[in-house]
Amino acid sequence: MSAELSATATLRITEIFHSIQGESGTVGLPTVFVRLTGCPLRCQYCDTAYAFSGGEVCSLDDILARVASYSPRYVCVTGGEPLAQPNCLPLLQSLCDAGYQVSLETSGALDIAEVDPRVVRVVDLKTPGSAEVGRNLYGNMALLTARDQVKFVLCSREDYEWARFKLDEYTLAGRVGEILFSPSHGELSPRELAEWIVADNLPVRFQMQLHKYLWNDEPGH
Ligand code: SF4
Repeated sequence: MSAELSATATLRITEIFHSIQGESGTVGLPTVFVRLTGCPLRCQYCDTAYAFSGGEVCSLDDILARVASYSPRYVCVTGGEPLAQPNCLPLLQSLCDAGYQVSLETSGALDIAEVDPRVVRVVDLKTPGSAEVGRNLYGNMALLTARDQVKFVLCSREDYEWARFKLDEYTLAGRVGEILFSPSHGELSPRELAEWIVADNLPVRFQMQLHKYLWNDEPGH
């Protein structure tokens, strides 16, 4: 991007912090998180409602400087729904240009086509139990590559069956880098989900949100 745009572009930021990646293919690795403010969805299990509003308007240069202060290898742009802010795209590009391994966590409700191809896109498919299944932008499925990951947060056995169906419908196994199945915290027993995956020998990665166990979901972790 041009130096001029870099100096003038702004984003609304809820927090920038250094922590352990709690999920996805880089789970357990020290990562800097850039949490953008705002989300057009209202999933019933949302654990980041504090990012729906407020935040601080920051220049792109300021965000890049704050990220650089941690000397990270991994940077995760998250929300809220980061793609709801158009300047998320130049942010992602600038983070890649700076040499970080960059991932984007997105709800799957917005178009991912213009995201820098160096970014690992972690795309949710919202299940019926999320109460936002109607927001899925299924056109995104065709854009996914072996760099990308698809995440299902499951609230029930019905959600699990729905997710299995979507794996087949979009031939996700073998086409995307990771398929992630997570139990919705407090709604679906992690052990039960793990046992279903084993019984069905599904080509998915079971995951629990590590940060919830380490820091009880406090902001800043
Ligand atoms: S998309 Fe993410 S941030 Fe938005 S309501 Fe759903 S869980 Fe919360």
